[in-house]
Amino acid sequence: MDPLPYDRNAHTTAPETRKAGGASICSMPDSESIIHIDHITKVFGNNRTVTAVDDVTFDVKRGEIFGLLGPNGAGKSTLIRILTTLLRPTSGTACVDTYDIGRDPEKVRAIIGVCPQNSTLDVELTAYDNLEFYGTLVNVDDRMLDDRIWQLLNMAGLADRAHSHVSTFSGGMRRKLEIVRAFIHHPLILFLDEPTIGLDPESRREVWQQISLLNKENTTIILTTHYMEEAEKLCHRIAFVDKGRLIALDILDNLKRLIPEGDLIEIGCDGIDEEMLTAIRTTSLVNSVEVKENHLHISAMNGSRVLPAIVMIFEKFSVPMTSISIRSPSLEDVFIYLTGKKLDEGGNEQAQPAGRRRPS
Ligand code: ADP
Repeated sequence: MDPLPYDRNAHTTAPETRKAGGASICSMPDSESIIHIDHITKVFGNNRTVTAVDDVTFDVKRGEIFGLLGPNGAGKSTLIRILTTLLRPTSGTACVDTYDIGRDPEKVRAIIGVCPQNSTLDVELTAYDNLEFYGTLVNVDDRMLDDRIWQLLNMAGLADRAHSHVSTFSGGMRRKLEIVRAFIHHPLILFLDEPTIGLDPESRREVWQQISLLNKENTTIILTTHYMEEAEKLCHRIAFVDKGRLIALDILDNLKRLIPEGDLIEIGCDGIDEEMLTAIRTTSLVNSVEVKENHLHISAMNGSRVLPAIVMIFEKFSVPMTSISIRSPSLEDVFIYLTGKKLDEGGNEQAQPAGRRRPS
């Protein structure tokens, strides 16, 4: 059996040494980057043309948990499939730890782990057998395989279920097994496509812990998700993708700064009075007021201070309130601000260039 396909320390080897070893090198813009995506576009053209990924360019930094966040159909999985060499881009290219995805797909595959959205575990096999089968497939040295399997089972908290059939596992247990399985050959980069889709809240939290644990082992993690909470909890940087395009990329705090400062007050009401709206709009500390289906969405500098004045305006115009909520802006609010729709609205089946616009 061949040794491990990738030596974790190999990425410290000088590029020239690697070139001498036969692989072509592509240059990274800086030493912090582990993935460089350069103007990638993917057009599917069967019965109709869909631009699933539309001229996307960005870098992923070594050691970070990077979130690709966007609604269903945004192009996240397509981009992951391109980076993991399962799909060729229509144009553009990407480097994964100095290997070009087009020229050196095998070298790329040796240094990445992939956990796809749909489970590929064999549920008729035990947890141990699933790991053994996969480890053999990715050329883990069989002298080390048993130790490695137990390490991973312990990491996932599944050592006591090593010899149980996966068919007896909960959704969370299966997902954790699948994630550590992708890690069996010590990949430098782990791609997780919607790692917690369909899981209950408790299993989701367990999977989050698992992901953080793997990241602490110096693994760069790229995950796609349409759960904002997941991105907020886990990711060092977040890229918003919509209709195939990258619409924003930054750390959480900077993304939140994209929307007007202040709190968000939402008031449900029976009927809207135009004069009342004008009175609220001109109230001190109020930034903006929008009306959506019997709800006022008010952005204000200091929500709790401005709320009593707003309540008085409602009373003055005799408009009954049905609900009041006040909160700080979330990642979802940033997405709504940038695209005009919620993350779970989807509807990206026909990709069009996305313009930055405020919600109407
Ligand atoms: P996401 O992962 O963000 O939900 P996808 O990358 O799966 O989005 O899909 C992006 C767009 O590309 C969607 O409109 C989808 O229907 C389309 N698409 C994905 N794969 C194919 C394919 N193999 N053939 C045709 N269209 C595809």
